[in-house]
Amino acid sequence: MKREHVKNLPKIELHCHLDGSIRPETLRKIAAQQGIALPADNAQLKELLVAPEDCRNLNDYLERFDLVLACLQTEDALKAAAMDVISQAAAENIRYIEVRFAPSLHTRQGLSLPKIITAVLAGLHQGEQQYGVKSNALLCGMRHEEIHEIERIVQLANTFKEAGVAGFDLAGNEADFPPYTFEETLGLVKQLNIPLTLHAGECGCGKNVADAVMLGATRIGHGIALKDTSEHFALIKEKDVLLEICPTSNFQTKTVTTLADYPFRLFQEAGLKVCINTDNRTVSNTTLTDEFMKLHEWYGITYADMEQLLHNAVNGAFISEKEKQGLHQLLEEAYQKVDE
Ligand SMILES: [Zn+2]
Repeated sequence: MKREHVKNLPKIELHCHLDGSIRPETLRKIAAQQGIALPADNAQLKELLVAPEDCRNLNDYLERFDLVLACLQTEDALKAAAMDVISQAAAENIRYIEVRFAPSLHTRQGLSLPKIITAVLAGLHQGEQQYGVKSNALLCGMRHEEIHEIERIVQLANTFKEAGVAGFDLAGNEADFPPYTFEETLGLVKQLNIPLTLHAGECGCGKNVADAVMLGATRIGHGIALKDTSEHFALIKEKDVLLEICPTSNFQTKTVTTLADYPFRLFQEAGLKVCINTDNRTVSNTTLTDEFMKLHEWYGITYADMEQLLHNAVNGAFISEKEKQGLHQLLEEAYQKVDE
């Protein structure tokens, strides 16, 4: 595969965090408007934002969000951040993207949760008008927070359903807060008919992935730890669950340490469905193009493989059947024309 082709071909992305994906130059503008001082030197700024290859663990990776979050406490900042992510998606011809964020992380200066969500949706909407990239938002509850706080986010996902919130997710510290901690909360998600994807098997055990599915997730963020628990493969297959894998991030968070351990081929050979994602464009210093090129280098995937991975993403997307058909057709037409 050629990088230029991979970049220009239409793509879909389902797992991209708003706060981890703002370009340093955009963050600089957002910070300046609020009088927040950032290191003048670009290399120094990047060092604060990009996770090193040798993160100790997931929590070490999550520390890279501190500076960004300090800057994302106003409506203007949130709107600019959302637009920035859409402009990056447009630059590599992503046709549909689901951008996720945790509203509770943006209340430090007193913004209300509905205002936070409205601001992000306004940015996504304006991004669509300006760059032509269709998007939806996913709201994340943070696992370490109080159950009632997380349930408030679930309720808001319901309130903003028609306005561009397509689903719910739980993010953050998986090791201390495994899926069954949230049994009742996820019951509420089901009751309200909110599409559910859950981070699981990113650092915890493979059983967390199976538990997340039992609790109603139709998609799993990462799911990498599933590789060591093949007894759960049947469940994942039976429920037609989509694993949103994020190769660069999975190595940075030490979910895997060697390529031989990375389960991309294992999952495919077992008939599990995966799609490819960036997770955090800035923190992981990556693009969706980079992620596909990595799979090409590591496993020799072809354009046909890439197309299949994108069809998987479309099938798992939290959009209508009609929208899915449109995206499937768009992919088929574009990939037919490409020379291997
Ligand atoms: Zn994630």
